[in-house]
Amino acid sequence: MNSSKKVGFVSLGCPKALVDSERILTQLRLEGYDIVSSYEGADVVVVNTCGFIDSAKQESLDAIGEAVQKNGRVIVTGCMGKNAEAIMRVHPQVLSVTGPQAYEEVVSAVHQVIPKPIMSAHNPLIDLVPPQGIKLTPRHYAYLKISEGCNHRCSFCIIPSLRGDLVSRPVEDVLAEAERLVNAGVQELLVISQDTSAYGVDLKYRTGFWNGQPVKGNMQGLCEALAHLGVWVRLHYVYPYPHVDNIIPLMADGRILPYLDIPFQHASQRILKLMKRPAATENTLARIKAWREICPELTLRSTFIVGFPGETEADFQELLDFLEEAQLDRIGCFQYSAVDGAKANELPDPVEESVKQERYDRFMEVQQRISSARLQAKVGRQIEVIVDEVNENEAIARSMADAPEIDGKVYLQYPEGLQPGDLVTVTVEEADDYDLYA
Ligand code: SF4
Repeated sequence: MNSSKKVGFVSLGCPKALVDSERILTQLRLEGYDIVSSYEGADVVVVNTCGFIDSAKQESLDAIGEAVQKNGRVIVTGCMGKNAEAIMRVHPQVLSVTGPQAYEEVVSAVHQVIPKPIMSAHNPLIDLVPPQGIKLTPRHYAYLKISEGCNHRCSFCIIPSLRGDLVSRPVEDVLAEAERLVNAGVQELLVISQDTSAYGVDLKYRTGFWNGQPVKGNMQGLCEALAHLGVWVRLHYVYPYPHVDNIIPLMADGRILPYLDIPFQHASQRILKLMKRPAATENTLARIKAWREICPELTLRSTFIVGFPGETEADFQELLDFLEEAQLDRIGCFQYSAVDGAKANELPDPVEESVKQERYDRFMEVQQRISSARLQAKVGRQIEVIVDEVNENEAIARSMADAPEIDGKVYLQYPEGLQPGDLVTVTVEEADDYDLYA
């Protein structure tokens, strides 16, 4: 093998983009490139961008600018890469631009700048790359991407034009990856996609084989099989289609985490139709009630948009009433902002900025009261947590109700003897609006 060739990497955006970065890094490492953590030490820098909303695009352009200034040899990929022109206009020095999931193109762009290291027939680097590939998350949890793209056309979203229609990974491939991750010490698998409930529809739910057993290639089959791995399994981006009901008993039995991340986005049927949301006509409140009867421990996380074009005070009031009834645990709320290329831009009756802000404030006031009461109800209870970080005076952990990065934390006193990845049972002593103290 000749002297090493060094690649710097900047990864921006959502967990799906992070998984793309992991794949590119794994391939580069297998080919003999070194991955370095400074601009100065790199022969080339790859920037994986996010292009979802204007602020994310700006952050991507700034990151590209910094890489150009500090290194000079820059390859751009990821969601913003779909709009190569916008990037080249601001940073004409960039060497190549590709869109999301363009693994081979990125790697061949790297070959153009710094030729592939010459490897001997016996490749010792293969042994240096762990079987689970290179991970950018801590060792004890990992994102498991089950599909790419999306078949829906929500009017505010440009993801299908960035990432294409739904392409599910065969169930045996997903399970093999999950098993490799667990064998490497992962204690929590975070299932991600654009639409987890739609998993397998493009493959006609083809049955796969895993450890000699048939596994149905749909959401339920996948969850049942993942439950056998004996680690926390957390589902993100689930739409409330009727078949989601089949997953709730698995949660009630403790086989997968009693946690659902469902981006409802609104509660008014009229606005949901304007948004062209999947499962817009489902009676969501009745479903939530039925789920909680089967699985009282269920944690529900969601995101909402206020100030969507055409949203009246009555629609907004419907949303507030829904919040009161649904008693969701964790919420993200966004004020609607136009995304270049989204159909919603053509809708009439935009909501004034001041009204958006006022609705956002009212929304947050209601939800904060609900979230904080739900956290207060945990004081005095014993809960199981996974440890993320251990410092001198405390450990930072998460309960089953908390996904990394987006939800709250559980701060633990007396951290002696704890390690990241440990699962421990603790007594909750206090709660504030977001976090628990135990
Ligand atoms: S379900 Fe809607 S919001 Fe989600 S990725 Fe698909 S089109 Fe976008």
